[in-house]
Amino acid sequence: MGLSVTVLGSSGSYPGRGEACSGYLVRGAGATVWLDAGSGTMANLQHHVSLDDVDAVVLSHEHPDHWHDVEGFYVAMRYGERARRGIPVFAPAGVRGKTSKRMDPTFDWRIVRDGATGSVGGLRLRFSRTDHGPETLAVRIDGDGRSFGYSADTGPGWSLAALGDGLDLALCESSYCGDKAGAPGHLTAREAGADARRAGVRRLLLTHFWPTVDREQCAREAAAAFGGPVEIATTNEEYHL
Ligand SMILES: [Zn+2]
Ligand SMILES: [Zn+2]
Repeated sequence: MGLSVTVLGSSGSYPGRGEACSGYLVRGAGATVWLDAGSGTMANLQHHVSLDDVDAVVLSHEHPDHWHDVEGFYVAMRYGERARRGIPVFAPAGVRGKTSKRMDPTFDWRIVRDGATGSVGGLRLRFSRTDHGPETLAVRIDGDGRSFGYSADTGPGWSLAALGDGLDLALCESSYCGDKAGAPGHLTAREAGADARRAGVRRLLLTHFWPTVDREQCAREAAAAFGGPVEIATTNEEYHL
């Protein structure tokens, strides 16, 4: 019982050596959701579930490090041994404009925006527009009495608090360490920790690391701002809420 989050990749913006970009499996309440499908995540997903077990896909935004493996998933579901139809894909409008084809009726596109809600089995989803270039949607997922929040990509102009109270675990982007401001629309580890503290989240898991940053340093900086221990999203690890 409860929710679990399995990390399929945690490289930010481009895959580091031997790594995958953003992707997670959220399981609970009898449902399996593939949350973001960056390059390399489909390969890792199959260590944990079969492709047929994926009940729905959630894509946060149109940057390719968050959705590109949905192309391969479409091919597998469309032409595989057991063709499927109507797989729900929740995404802002911009993602659908980037895919190589419409992909329906294999996929049932659910175009979502700020404040939208949805459900997959017993999991309840609620989306929030973040501080990031193209329309980007953070998501809160509730189920089995637990609450999970995912920041997607965001700058400091958005807060985890927008996902509401009582998050048992927040998975938050932490693209950079120190005060180095890289590409706009991202957080440093210290900003991620400070925001998680303000938002009152119980547990903080950092992800979307620029491939060359020192993740341990990020965790130390985030922990100092959070006021408690902080975890580093590790590929193929499962986190129980
Ligand atoms: Zn990204
Ligand atoms: Zn992005």
